[in-house]
Amino acid sequence: MEREGDMKIGTYAYDEFIEKVKEFHGSIAPGIVAGGVMVDIAKANLPEGEFFDVICESQHCLPDAVQLLTPCTIGNRWLKIAETSRYALTFYNKYTGEGIRVYLDAKKLGDWPAISAWFLKEKPKKEQSLDRILDEFCRARTAIYGTEKVTVKPSFIASPEKKHSAIGLCPCCGEAFRTSLGERCPACQGRGPYG
Ligand SMILES: [Zn+2]
Repeated sequence: MEREGDMKIGTYAYDEFIEKVKEFHGSIAPGIVAGGVMVDIAKANLPEGEFFDVICESQHCLPDAVQLLTPCTIGNRWLKIAETSRYALTFYNKYTGEGIRVYLDAKKLGDWPAISAWFLKEKPKKEQSLDRILDEFCRARTAIYGTEKVTVKPSFIASPEKKHSAIGLCPCCGEAFRTSLGERCPACQGRGPYG
């Protein structure tokens, strides 16, 4: 599918970015396309050459846009999730906490029915057209997002778990874990994911 115009996301042409999303995420999730535009908006609002960390307020899709387009990943902890379920991300200076928050603004979706139906879940997914949503994202460009300056709380930046990083062996399962989490590892305290 070829679209008009010179819309780019990061260094990618729009359709090229959509292919990248498919490859990385396993499907073409509209949220990652929106997230890609949001990353570009955040970058454009930051002082050039500054190092930044990122917060995503949703764990759905948005982190994959950040991981595709920036050096920040969950694994290197330059990307953190602060789940508020709002579709927003913040790029911030980890020394000062000052940052720019970008969000998808539901009040700006009046002219974009396919995006609105997707974002606000106005219709069941099977009645939505992915192609129309992608086409609207391409035409809407940056018009459907809002930005605001924010200051990230020092307690959030500090990564408190790193300060108590003593490692011991769990007396129950024998695996290594952070002893700040208890006498036994969280799994052996009954907080593991398995039945
Ligand atoms: Zn254990």
